[in-house]
Parts: sequence; C-alpha cells; structure tokens
Amino acid sequence: MKPTNNKVYCIGCRRSKMLFESQSKADNFIRYNYVEITAHSDHTPSRSYYCTFCCGWHITSIQDEATGKLCDLKDEMLWEKIRIKCLLIDIENACLEIEELMEYADYTGAEQLIEQTRHSFHEAKKESESHNIAMKEIQLLQDRLDKLLHEIFFERYSTFYISSQNHYKR
Ligand SMILES: [Zn+2]
Repeated sequence: MKPTNNKVYCIGCRRSKMLFESQSKADNFIRYNYVEITAHSDHTPSRSYYCTFCCGWHITSIQDEATGKLCDLKDEMLWEKIRIKCLLIDIENACLEIEELMEYADYTGAEQLIEQTRHSFHEAKKESESHNIAMKEIQLLQDRLDKLLHEIFFERYSTFYISSQNHYKR
C-alpha cells in the first residue's frame, strides 16, 4: 500500500518528500510499491538515504553514486550556511545589547561585550570564507560593529576628556 500521510517538506530538497522513521521501512516501501510506482511514474525509487534535515529516511530514484555524493555535499553546504546564519543572529543580538548598554551610558560594559562580539564575528567570517559562502549580512554586521566601536571609543574618550577638564579647573 502506498502511504500518503508520511509526506514532509524537506529543507534539503526544497520540496515535500516521504519520510520514513527507519531504513527498513523505506526499503520495504520501495520493495512493495516498486511495480505500482513504475507503472505511474518515470522516477522509480531505487534506494533509501538518511536525511540530516528531516532526521529520517527518504527514498530516491537517483541511482548513480556521483550524483548522490553531490547531493550529500549540497546538504553539508546548507548545514554550514544554517550554522553561520545562527552565529550571525547571535552577533546581531549582541549588537542590540551593546546599543542598550550605551543608552544606559555603561561604556565599560559595552566595550567588554563588543570585544567578545568582534571575536565571534571574526570566527563566523572565517568560517564563511573557508566554505566559500558569501552572505550580505556579514558586510552589514561588519559595518555595524565598526560603527559601534567608534561610538564607544568616542564616548569613552569624551567622558575622559570632560573629567580631565574638570580636574584641571579645580
Ligand atoms: Zn529531508
């Protein structure tokens, strides 16, 4: 019997696919439905594979190993992109926190946090460069961090300047 209630949208494939909880269930599906599917479709499932996005098994008509490997590579790349994207979201949240600290005139706190954040940013940037992944968010975050750094130094310097002026007056 062809199950119809096990379809999920797969991020890796960018379309809906049947998902099986074990390899044996996926293989059994191919075994028992092979004839029926062949009669209705040009794409006959020939093997099962584990999908890291859905955490389960799909079936595919792709038989040759080279194409299969290419798909695995594509999946790995997508995972890497997601990983970098998560790092960038963390950095973006840190920028908001820095801006908040500055609003409360906690420039020491802002300076400490921007140091950590700049470090995380460089890690994320290195990661994206080593995997040849270009993201426009990286440049935007770079500009935002540079701007924040300048603001912090300006505030730190001007408070120092004012207090030394006051000191001089006394
Ligand atoms: Zn999947």
